[in-house]
This record gives sequence, C-alpha cells and structure tokens, in this order.
Amino acid sequence: MTASLLKIAGGIVYDPANGIDGEVRDLWIDGPRIVAAPTDPAVRPARTIDARGLIVMPGGVDMHCHIAGSKVNAARRMRPEEQRAFSAGGPLPSTPTTRLTGCRYAGLGYTTAFDAAVPPLLARHAHLELADTPCIDRGCYILMGNNHYLMDAIGRREPNRVRAFVAWLLRAAKGYAPKLVNPGGVEQWKSGREGMVELDTPIDGFGCTPRQIITGVADAAAELQLPHPLHVHCNRLGLPGNFSTTLETMQALDGRRAHLAHIQFHSYGGRLDRAGTFCSEVAPLVEWFNAHENLSVDVGQVLFGPTTSMTADSAVGHYLSRLHGKRWYSHDVECESGCGVVPIEYRPQSLVNAWQWAIGLEWFLLAADPWRIALSTDHPNGGSFTAYPQIIRLLMDRTYRADALKTVHPRVQERSALKGLNRQYSLSEICIITRAGPARLLGLTNKGHLAPGADADVTIYTPAADPARTFELPRHVLQVGRLVIEDGELREEVFGRTLHVTPQSDASDDAEIAHWIDEHYSIRAANYPVSESALQSRD
Ligand SMILES: [Zn+2]
Repeated sequence: MTASLLKIAGGIVYDPANGIDGEVRDLWIDGPRIVAAPTDPAVRPARTIDARGLIVMPGGVDMHCHIAGSKVNAARRMRPEEQRAFSAGGPLPSTPTTRLTGCRYAGLGYTTAFDAAVPPLLARHAHLELADTPCIDRGCYILMGNNHYLMDAIGRREPNRVRAFVAWLLRAAKGYAPKLVNPGGVEQWKSGREGMVELDTPIDGFGCTPRQIITGVADAAAELQLPHPLHVHCNRLGLPGNFSTTLETMQALDGRRAHLAHIQFHSYGGRLDRAGTFCSEVAPLVEWFNAHENLSVDVGQVLFGPTTSMTADSAVGHYLSRLHGKRWYSHDVECESGCGVVPIEYRPQSLVNAWQWAIGLEWFLLAADPWRIALSTDHPNGGSFTAYPQIIRLLMDRTYRADALKTVHPRVQERSALKGLNRQYSLSEICIITRAGPARLLGLTNKGHLAPGADADVTIYTPAADPARTFELPRHVLQVGRLVIEDGELREEVFGRTLHVTPQSDASDDAEIAHWIDEHYSIRAANYPVSESALQSRD
C-alpha cells in the first residue's frame, strides 16, 4: 500500500482535453498530482473512492469574476442589508465574505478562480483577500487600460517601453494577465469628459486612442509570451448600439490573441436616444467570432433577481446610477483606474433586462466552438456565480429554456433568436465551458484536464435528471489532491496558491518606470510591489 495514493474507481470520466467523453475509467492520484495507473498490480492505494455511476470531471475554473479587493469591499460596505439578511437566514449576499466565496466555489465543484480587475496600487489588498479565500487556487488580472505611464508610452509610439511596463506591472502587482477596462474611456470620464468613447476617440493629453491601447498591449502580451494574452472589457459597455464598437474591436485585433470579457454586455443594438429600440446584435458579432480563432469570450450571463454591479469602468458606474436612480459608489485610483459600484435588479418583464438574459444565451448557443467561450456571470455583475447550475440547465434542457423564455418581456419572446435555437449542450460541452476551455484559454497546462501530471483538481458529481441538481452539489471535490468536499459535506478549508506570472524586462526600463512612479504617484515605487512577505499570512 502506498500512503499517498488515492484511486477514484469506476467513474464516468469527462476529460475533453484528452478526448475522453463519458468513459468508465479509474483515476489515480498521488499527493497533489494525477498519476498514471500503477503497472505493478501489487501497488495498492491508501484510499479508494467508489465513483461507480458518478460523473468525474476536472475541477471548475472561473476565468472572470470579482471576488476580492477594493471594489468588492466597497460593495460589502455599501450593502450591509445584504449581510444582515444573510445572517438572518436569507440569500447569499451578492458579495459574500472571502470564506463564503471559497467554500461556495468548492460547493459547486470549482477549484480555481480569477478576479478580473485589480488596480496595481490596490493589489496588495486584493492579494490578502485572495489569500484568505479558501478551497481554490486563485489569481488576478491587472488593470492597465487607463494607466498614465502606459498611455504616454503608447502615445509616443514606444512599444519597447509599453512592453517593459506591462512586464513590470504584472510582476509588481503579482498579476496573471493584463486587463483593459474601457481603455482610455475611464481617464476621459475622470477628467470630466464623455467616458463612453469610440475606438478612435483621442484620449486627451496622451496622444493615443483606445484602438492603439488595445493593439499596443496585445502586441506587448504576445512578445512577452504571456499564458493569457490580453483580457479586454471593451469600450461602451452596456450602451444601446454598442455592438458596433465591439465588432470594430474584434476587427482591430486583426489576428492578435485576445479575450473579450462578458461579451453579453457588449452585444446590444438600438439607440440611446430612442427608448424601446434596445435589441440583440449577437448575430454579426458571433459570425465574426466563429470565423476568427484568435478571439475568445466569456459570456457574463444575466440571471433575474437583485445583485450588485461593480466595475473599474467609472463611466459605466455613473451611467447605471443615473439609469437606476440609486445610491452609487465611485472611486479614483490615482494615475491608473477608477471604480463604480451600483446595486441593481434584473427583472424578466423589463425589456432591457429580458434582452440581456436572452443575449447571453444566444451567445452560448450560436458560438460554434465551446473551447473559446467560457461560462461566467461576471460575478456579481450579471448574477452570482452560485447561479452556474441554473445556467447549465438552460443550456442542456431546451424545454426548460423554452418555458423560461415564456416568462420574459413579450417582445424578447417574439424577436430573440432563442425561439429557433434547439441546441442542447452535452455534458462534455459543459465540461469544456466550465473547466477545460477556461484552463486552456488561461494557458494553465496543469488544470482543466485529468492526464498524468495535472493538478489533482477533481470533481465528482451525482447524475440527476435535472442538470442543475447534478451541478449544484458535488459528491466529492479534490483541490490539488486535498479532499475539500466529501459526501456532499465541506470537510476541510484548505488554502490554495496564487497563480501569477513573472515576465522579464530590462533593468534600465525598470529604473525609468520606478523613477516615473516616484514623480507621479503619491505612493513611492519602492513601496509599490506586492512582496511575498505581505502574503505570508496564508500563502
Ligand atoms: Zn468583470
């Protein structure tokens, strides 16, 4: 018997990255890794999990959510009523505590999650919260689309300086990928100008345009050979008619690899000055997307009910606050970013909300290649990540979907392409959009699959007639080999690792960046990097 050896015996295995589609197999695990079955029949596992009749998949990977750092905390502070209601037995808050966040992810079979928008100056705080989020490996993307140094380097046509800064920022803030949020537009808004900018709007004072920021950072990411190239929240999020900006962004990328976040929020037709014209323009976008393999998306699916919108896009925060007429929170991060937080509620009888719900589903059902489209609610913007099982049911069960469509605004019932879409996702396709695909898009070679050498992130589900039931309560979950959920119960709150990259840049470039930060930020460059020691509490 080998003390560290675990066998998951006889499960129905879904491992699409390795071409395995529902085959009865054994899985062997040694400590934190999946290993090949021992060739010596005398080798016995220390423990065997009987998985006969159960579904075995890699652990889920959420590639776009908001779970840590300053804006999540702003939402927690802003909505104490949610926390109070939860304490009294009510629903999970839209921004749960770190502990609840990690435990609920594990409770859905997820073992990895990435916060999608961390400003460099506030990265230390985000990392401390991520380090305090149990049961998952985690990471974050670093906001740079409105950074003064970056926009200056792009405006001066100095790609080497852009590349050096992207590398420095990712190292200093311990990030995984570069993130652009309304590139250039947040800076315009913070300067008192219109923040909903077009792709070729000149950004005042920097001599560059959103188009140049997007292509400039995409080029830098490619040269730095980052595992996840560029994560973009396009300009004009949420506005009627914004699909044209999204299409232009896809075209501007011109073969460069990029991930377009929460694409649902960027696929709208209609006119801002004519109420009631809001509609779906998924068709032209998905046509381009299907034909261009350099692009990937996550959906940002909307679910009906209350939630909290939070974004580094101050202009969107301002727009939503006027739209809903509610309290809102705005925050400036000097020289680099912004933030808006607004409580919202999606209602099925609202024309706009019903379209948002339908547009997300249209994307899932019209995208031809599941490897390039990831499941997300842009938690908590479209809804909580805890709604993933419900979305899975909408994708797997066309009768349930048709019934749900009957409950929304009549014009959406009539005009959405959903009416004619009969596609039903298979279990293998669900496995792709929830773990295998996101892991591949992130360049996480040890996650999202079950071949020997992979991290032992494994989820075992009990199949049920209702797919939502299958996915809402896994029987067992292993996070890097540790049994977190056993027989449907949380057994151990383990703490995972921070996944980050360390791209290199020249010392002379680094010195210039440090000098610039000393001159322009109130924080000194020497204090800027997120050090290992700052994270020693849990890392
Ligand atoms: Zn987001």
